[in-house]
Amino acid sequence: MTASHPKNVLNFCPKCGDKAFNYDGSRSFKCAKCGFHFFINSAAAVAAVIVNERGEVLLTTRAFDPCKGMLDLPGGFVDPMETAEEAVCREIKEELNLDVVKTSYLVSFPNEYVFSGYSVYTCDLAFVCEAKSFDNMHVQDDISDFAFYPKESINYEDVSSESIQDIIRFYFRERS
Ligand SMILES: [Zn+2]
Repeated sequence: MTASHPKNVLNFCPKCGDKAFNYDGSRSFKCAKCGFHFFINSAAAVAAVIVNERGEVLLTTRAFDPCKGMLDLPGGFVDPMETAEEAVCREIKEELNLDVVKTSYLVSFPNEYVFSGYSVYTCDLAFVCEAKSFDNMHVQDDISDFAFYPKESINYEDVSSESIQDIIRFYFRERS
């Protein structure tokens, strides 16, 4: 089990503060003092596959850690009470200033995202997204660059996570 696994990071009950916050060995904690039961669930996240007229996929460069400088698909976490479709449109607007006119669900893959020394398990939901136009596209928010990549030029070792690699491979295998 990694150092960032919740079992190795969460030492106290978040409700009453007692240290008898016991991990059940699979995916929950229970406080022996107040009975608070805390589950380690997968967090929903979204990733966008956006292609140009030549069938090349848009990849961004991450501006911050984790995986600063590596390639990624546009996307991020789904906010509380937000739909996955709303989240993917919001992220694309925030990162690239693109207005999405159509989203179509593609596939999902799991990921372990380590932030602040804590593992967040995610379910990365991929959508094929169509933008109104690429005219006003520019870098903003948490990316430092973007470019369209033809299938054969993608070096998967430069892509930030296994789930994003899996999504890109799946897209080229099933849809292109
Ligand atoms: Zn407690």
